[in-house]
Amino acid sequence: MIEVRDLVYEYPSGRALWGVSLDIPPQTITALVGPNGAGKTTLLRCLAALEPPYRGEVTIDGLNSRARPREIHEKLGYLPDFYGLYDDLSVRRSLTYAAWAHGIKPDAAGAAAEKAASRVGLGDRMEQKASELSRGLRQRLAIGQAIVHSPKVLLLDEPAAGLDPAARKELSALLLSLRDSGMTIVVSSHILAELEDYCSEMIVLDKGRVAGGKPIKVREIERPRYLIELASPRSDLGEFLKGNGGIDVIEANEMHALFTFTHNPGARAKLVRDLVNAGFEVARFAESDRALEEAYFAQVGKTGVAA
Ligand code: ATP
Repeated sequence: MIEVRDLVYEYPSGRALWGVSLDIPPQTITALVGPNGAGKTTLLRCLAALEPPYRGEVTIDGLNSRARPREIHEKLGYLPDFYGLYDDLSVRRSLTYAAWAHGIKPDAAGAAAEKAASRVGLGDRMEQKASELSRGLRQRLAIGQAIVHSPKVLLLDEPAAGLDPAARKELSALLLSLRDSGMTIVVSSHILAELEDYCSEMIVLDKGRVAGGKPIKVREIERPRYLIELASPRSDLGEFLKGNGGIDVIEANEMHALFTFTHNPGARAKLVRDLVNAGFEVARFAESDRALEEAYFAQVGKTGVAA
């Protein structure tokens, strides 16, 4: 649904994206994570066909962003990190106005507004002014505005920022229901702990590049995940683990590996023994209940490029 090939983007002050390539399948939720200044907002704006690539190609549902940006805008919803709401407009009027802005004909705009309101759980607040809504509900209204034209692709820049834990849980549920209704969603976030609730893939962006060269699968695996950390680098860590029966390597580099393995203590003890016998300096071997965070920190800083 979303294809990016060797995307380079430059601001007058310097290059922000250095040859990003991605494939995002339809009806998935992909998390875009990375340190401040990594290029997440720039990448989302390029995906939204708001910025033409300096080099490379962005294709959304078969449409090239350079050649057909307006058609992409019809298929796509984008929620920027700083979005504006008209405080004096009611939920109904905000959504109706957004429908017009997205090119929906006036006679269909009312129905589109009602549908968007019910999808984001604001159906019973249609006459309430935006200024009277809590932060979580304002966020929902902003998402409602972004989906009022029933886009195939939804891009959200930091939608969870500033929300309390309950509102963040509600946001996760909302994103899952939008995905189930057929949308392909990309969401940038700094809140790693909750991404696992709703994302199928995680893209770590670091200094304008995809860290590790590819997205990380966020698998729903029942088997426990383990983290190994070495005291000194060994480039064959991932290969060594892959050669060991029953291990599924999620992520590996020369210092860390994240993988699934059996609960069996004997098998785990044997693995540690094998690693030590093979000369790996094992500094940590632990079950990981924060797999995404571990994978993130294993990736960030690996690009080895100065900012
Ligand atoms: P954050 O997590 O802080 O929002 P980000 O990952 O979204 O960061 P971007 O905002 O895309 O990162 O910024 C990537 C790089 O491009 C940074 O070095 C930033 O300073 C630069 N940059 C972003 N916007 C502009 C702009 N309008 N003009 C010039 N440089 C910019």
